[in-house]
Amino acid sequence: MSTMDARARGRGILLVVAGPSGVGKGTLISALRKRHPEIEWSISCTTRDPRPGEIDGADYHFVSKDQFRRMSREGALLEWAVVHGDDFYGTPREPVETALAEGRDIVVEIDYQGARSMRQALPEAVLVFVAPPSVKALRERLDGRNTEADDAVKRRLRSARTEFSHMGMFEYLIVNDELGPAIDALEAIYLAERQKTTRAHWTQLRADLLKDLEA
Ligand code: ADP
Ligand code: 5GP
Repeated sequence: MSTMDARARGRGILLVVAGPSGVGKGTLISALRKRHPEIEWSISCTTRDPRPGEIDGADYHFVSKDQFRRMSREGALLEWAVVHGDDFYGTPREPVETALAEGRDIVVEIDYQGARSMRQALPEAVLVFVAPPSVKALRERLDGRNTEADDAVKRRLRSARTEFSHMGMFEYLIVNDELGPAIDALEAIYLAERQKTTRAHWTQLRADLLKDLEA
């Protein structure tokens, strides 16, 4: 997109997707980005170990606790939180702020604490909560993904309780039961946000329309 186009579109959309680990946030976000490749993905920093197949700098920036603390001290994180008891997770500030300022849309996948901080830092953030249809389904997905040891799965299920109790602070709720309708719902939220008059550059359009009427 040229700078001119970006300016005409105003600020970008910040989609914040939260929900318990294993509910399908990553799956939904990649499906949305397949339909809308223009949406950028915010790569979080984490102090947890990479899973097999995860790529540093693509899935996460894998950093030490010291590095993480330094980033936080230097103001390089837009938000951060301790998730699942002992690991730090945080959103690097610069990519998000630059994307929004240049009119590019960006999605972040974070926990409920991060979503709350994000709303404070950037009130325009669109907060979406993804819930499972049942705890049984959530457990099956976590087990089925087969990426965590039993104790890590247990910790993720414990965090789910806190995530559920904060559902009410989100603007949008998606129940990820059948994948197709859940992807459609996320896309519908994104498309509706794009049409908001607070985002569209309507003042210029109105001026042009009024001028045409008078011509
Ligand atoms: P999260 O990013 O929320 O931790 P993932 O996107 O990694 O979750 O999904 C966890 C697992 O659940 C993956 O194996 C994924 O393929 C599966 N999954 C996601 N959505 C659905 C769905 N609607 N029905 C069944 N399985 C799903
Ligand atoms: P996982 O270890 O399963 O990849 O992620 C665990 C959880 O950490 C995710 O479900 C998400 O809620 C949260 N998370 C991931 N990145 C961030 C981040 O940058 N900030 C915050 N606050 N939470 C994050």
